[in-house]
Amino acid sequence: MWFGSTPTISDAGIVLHEYVHAYNDINSTSAAGIVTLTHIDTSADEGMAYAIQYTYTHLEILNSLKENLEQQFADQSAGDPSCDNIRTAVQSIWPSSWALLTDSGVEYLASNAWVSAFPLLGAVFSAHSNQSRTIGPNDYQSLSNHLGVLPDCDSMANLLNGLPVMQACCIEVSCEESGTDSGRVYSGLTNAYSLFRN
Ligand SMILES: [Zn+2]
Repeated sequence: MWFGSTPTISDAGIVLHEYVHAYNDINSTSAAGIVTLTHIDTSADEGMAYAIQYTYTHLEILNSLKENLEQQFADQSAGDPSCDNIRTAVQSIWPSSWALLTDSGVEYLASNAWVSAFPLLGAVFSAHSNQSRTIGPNDYQSLSNHLGVLPDCDSMANLLNGLPVMQACCIEVSCEESGTDSGRVYSGLTNAYSLFRN
């Protein structure tokens, strides 16, 4: 993706989502194969699954940005300076990649159809059926606690800021929520997501 395209959820992200469910099933299932639900409840399970799905998609977006910045630098070295376009793209993609993690992860728990198909478990899940909520810091904390995965804003910023084109164009991405430095592109991450800072 490049200038102005909209982030989309990748197939690989969905596969990772289902892997988290499998991991949680294994780690919350008794020897008899009965789901005990004692370790990880259904809400936390879905939260973790969406958290890793969006984390992966977020990394894909930033990797695409990095590759495009490197290509832009090659073009620039060939005599095609385009710092304005590069700044516009970074301003668009850097904060929106973080917003993807914090804004768009709406999850849907057990549907009514699912509950009626499995009445025994349905009784457990029915309190949550057809409810939705936004993925939040607790879901990323669970991902970190159980799988050791956590988005790391400062590492990403250092990676991008080390690219020659960023230095040539005097552009710097920052993990701070906002600020007044016109040379910086801010993340928009609120204090609630300080766990993304190292
Ligand atoms: Zn799921």
